[in-house]
Amino acid sequence: SVGPGVGALPAMPVADTLKRSASDGTIAETVDRTSLFGAQTPQGFLFGEIRDAHRAAASAGRADFTDDAAIAEWAGMTVRLVEGSPDNLKLTRADDIQRADRSLARVPAMIDVRTGNGYDVHQLVPGDHVTLCGVRIAHDRTLSGHSDADVGLHALTDALLATCGAGDIGDHFPPSDPQWRGAASHIFVRHAVALVTRHGGRLCNADVTLISEAPKIAPHREAMRMAIADMTGLALERVSVKATTNETIGFVGRREGIAAIATASVVYGDGA
Ligand code: MG
Repeated sequence: SVGPGVGALPAMPVADTLKRSASDGTIAETVDRTSLFGAQTPQGFLFGEIRDAHRAAASAGRADFTDDAAIAEWAGMTVRLVEGSPDNLKLTRADDIQRADRSLARVPAMIDVRTGNGYDVHQLVPGDHVTLCGVRIAHDRTLSGHSDADVGLHALTDALLATCGAGDIGDHFPPSDPQWRGAASHIFVRHAVALVTRHGGRLCNADVTLISEAPKIAPHREAMRMAIADMTGLALERVSVKATTNETIGFVGRREGIAAIATASVVYGDGA
């Protein structure tokens, strides 16, 4: 509605009953509030016009205007009322700022925190290294399977997809598709993070537990955390990598494979 000679001003209908006082502090009259509005900011004008109006008012010695619209009206412009907002708080006194700070800090009505989990296993076969949580570790065996068979990142990918109902890693990267043979699994994690973001989510943390008799994970834990922080965009303190053996029991205990579980938390919507 702003154009040549026309400005716009957000305004709220006056809700209070208005009184005009007499000089002795009593009420002289009750003012009809029909068609009265409280002016808000920002107010819109063509810049050159409102600048010229300010200059003309200054030249005329007028210093009694309380907003831009009043100067525009004085200069002969039309100012149109548009619907204001009760949340558009006016900051005049110190306690107005405190009130605004309190309302901005208010916890949203619902924080949409979602938690996803993921689980993966790959078989150990003769070889010379394994890749776990993005870190290549020399070993006398290797993990067989889809891509680089990084169980930690596959579990994490599933955990991320779970937070937005986006299926599992096999839906997005079918093992039958030759293009993923030998692929670095950070590709899958990055894809899942991008999906989460597209759904309006903000990743809060990622936690991976590797279940393995060998190789030893501890010397590589920090490198794994850094790799996951890099591929997810998370701060390092929000990334956890843990490891446990399977106490020599079962397929992991017999060193037939390595398993991983992962958890991710994501805040969606307004809370994000
Ligand atoms: Mg897998």
